[in-house]
Amino acid sequence: MTARVEVVPGRHLVASVDGVVVVVAHRDSTTLTAESEAVAVLDKVLEMVAEAASRETRRTGRAFARLASTWLMGREDEERVEFGMLTPGTRGLAVFLHGRVTAVLEGEGYREVLHGRDAGFSVDRVVSPAPGRAAAVFVDDGEPRDSLPRAGVWSLRDGRVPGSGAVMWMGDKPDTPAREVRAGPGGRSSRAETGRPPPRRNPPPMGQDRANFDSGSRRTSAPDASPTGIIVHGFKCARGHLNDPRVSFCVACGIRMEQLTCVLTAGVRPPLGVLLLDDGSSYVLDSDLVIGREPERSRQVGRDAQAIRIPDASGGMSRVHAEIRLLEWDVLVLDRGSANGTHIRPPGRPDWVRAAPGHPTVLEPGSQLLLGGRVFTFDSPHGR
Ligand SMILES: [Zn+2]
Repeated sequence: MTARVEVVPGRHLVASVDGVVVVVAHRDSTTLTAESEAVAVLDKVLEMVAEAASRETRRTGRAFARLASTWLMGREDEERVEFGMLTPGTRGLAVFLHGRVTAVLEGEGYREVLHGRDAGFSVDRVVSPAPGRAAAVFVDDGEPRDSLPRAGVWSLRDGRVPGSGAVMWMGDKPDTPAREVRAGPGGRSSRAETGRPPPRRNPPPMGQDRANFDSGSRRTSAPDASPTGIIVHGFKCARGHLNDPRVSFCVACGIRMEQLTCVLTAGVRPPLGVLLLDDGSSYVLDSDLVIGREPERSRQVGRDAQAIRIPDASGGMSRVHAEIRLLEWDVLVLDRGSANGTHIRPPGRPDWVRAAPGHPTVLEPGSQLLLGGRVFTFDSPHGR
């Protein structure tokens, strides 16, 4: 089963590792950082995923459920740990929910909603066969969700990002040539059958604090393990996370980068951050992007760049306005000869500087971009 994973923006933590999708609740009032408890919980969950994989010849989700239950029962603060997980396995889809998290499973003429908080301890189910259309898992914020968001928000290959939930779209890829920006998760839902008002719009997923991005705790370091990932060279932390060689602390787990590991290692590049749009939408920087009113016109799209179609009421956005390019560990912006230009404001600076058309400029984390009447902020944990 090949599923395409999409993340619903939000303040909690979402990870996709080797086909397994995990959401962890971040209930602190502060923004998610490497020190947040949710990150420690996610680390532990992924450790158990790896451990379960080493115990099962075929993945069923059972070994994970046993490990997770034992771990939770051994914790005094077990009710503070809230997470949900979807594991596609050989016998169907395993669903594990603990605390205020919800899973939505949908197939042809069928929908099932499972709530972690309804269970005495945890929800531990294998849904067989796996839902034909999609399976999603969300952290409950107020009223739990009972429907899927629309496809095409943004996808997550392997890694961890801030979010309130994740959807695994099964089967055929929905036909979404351009990722159209929408007003947050489920804003103006196209699915009317529930009769519910659309869910509340989430705040932008990240504040000033650095959130965590990670290429996932891959068990092997074989650089060609992922045919789609871009291979870069970096330093590995003691726990095996690949990092920009210029950082002092691992952006995935926060530990200091030991300089004795000063050997460049090849590996799949983790996402280099996110681009946050002024309406709270966000795009994970895991590939080049072409931004504009009709970005599909660009020849880069379909080769290795994603089209980001942005409506702009000001009329100042060109059809193909600008490109975001990922080069090794850097994020660059390139004006594509737009009529009104691409303006950059480095962090802490009062004024906008117009980028020379056709000349890529490296963006510092915290930089803002003005394209027509829309403002983007580049946020990344990979800053120096
Ligand atoms: Zn690390």
